[in-house]
Amino acid sequence: MNVIFSSEVLLDWLRTDDPVKLDRLWQHADSMRYKCVGDEVHLRGLIEVSSHCVRCCAYCGLRVDNRALERYRLTDAEVLGCVDLAVRYGYGTVVIQSGEDPGLSAARVAGWVTRIKSETPLAVTLSLGERDDEDLQLWRTAGANRYLLRFETSDPVLYKRIHPNRPGMVSDRFALLRRLRRMGYEIGSGVMVGIPGQTFASLARDIQFFQELDLDMIGVGPYIPHPATPLGQGMLPAAGAEQVPATETMVYKVLALTRLIRPDANIPSTTALATLNRTDGRELGLMRGANVVMPNLTPTRYRALYEIYPAKACIGETADACRACLGGRIAAIGRTVAVGPGGRMGKTTPIDTDRSYGATYDSKDL
Ligand code: SAH
Repeated sequence: MNVIFSSEVLLDWLRTDDPVKLDRLWQHADSMRYKCVGDEVHLRGLIEVSSHCVRCCAYCGLRVDNRALERYRLTDAEVLGCVDLAVRYGYGTVVIQSGEDPGLSAARVAGWVTRIKSETPLAVTLSLGERDDEDLQLWRTAGANRYLLRFETSDPVLYKRIHPNRPGMVSDRFALLRRLRRMGYEIGSGVMVGIPGQTFASLARDIQFFQELDLDMIGVGPYIPHPATPLGQGMLPAAGAEQVPATETMVYKVLALTRLIRPDANIPSTTALATLNRTDGRELGLMRGANVVMPNLTPTRYRALYEIYPAKACIGETADACRACLGGRIAAIGRTVAVGPGGRMGKTTPIDTDRSYGATYDSKDL
């Protein structure tokens, strides 16, 4: 069904700068995308419900130690207002995202989910960080369909360095993803590309994990330094000659390889990528493996406060402008906007060419 890459072949691809080979990679990823998930692009309306966070992640501007950041939490009416817009704009899914905020009670989130599922045709994706199983189960029972939780890096030493545990609790996102799957969520995960300290070998391993976890959704974007964080201030060591650069091309490589190893996954062309290349980063992501975009529905006055990294693309735009802009970009590359919730299409998507893809990606081709 999907391409199996050995670690060596993945590493060769991640290291190559040969434009001819890369062109071939883009083409194969795009044709795999077309065969397995078609030309439709799913729109997931993003609602950034709270910028409060108790964690101290070394990369993220929302970290609790960033005292300079003004924090907000949307009211129920504001959240439901965003949901109304999603319905009006014809989006199939809302993604409810926040920092890790215990002030956002499980009951309150469950209330939103219940209302959305009973009053709209929308699928609900949650991305609220590491929460207790009890909360996650409550939301699932209320009807939440999907959960996004990036594992950020599969290198345990690097993960610990950039993602400190909460006092008395050990963060194990792999275990949490497996529990989410058992609860019946579609699960999404992913990594940042170019985290200082990330080696080519660990990035290759990350990609293999996408396959091993059989992820339904995979988000990959460049690491972007935030000056109010230890990583952004250069306080943590890079990996020397083995350091993965946080470049646009590196992100496209990971997107393309991800499409080849997880052909029917839902893969967004991320805002972080659009931040590196505002002109056509979104489009190039969609042409090199991605099939999802996440237009922002958060009320404009809060946008700048959800500053996980600086100078985020689309920060000053209204929800309406985001929708028009993304719709135009999708049409301009000959793709169509999908209708409906757009969950994973099923594990039995017929692909008869998978074996030849496997052969195409033999390491001796490089
Ligand atoms: N609190 C939730 C949502 C975090 S924001 C959680 O922990 O899952 C969503 C994603 O933004 C993170 O998973 C991370 O991969 C990405 N992100 C955070 N800081 C970033 C930075 N400086 N550059 C690029 N991406 C970043």
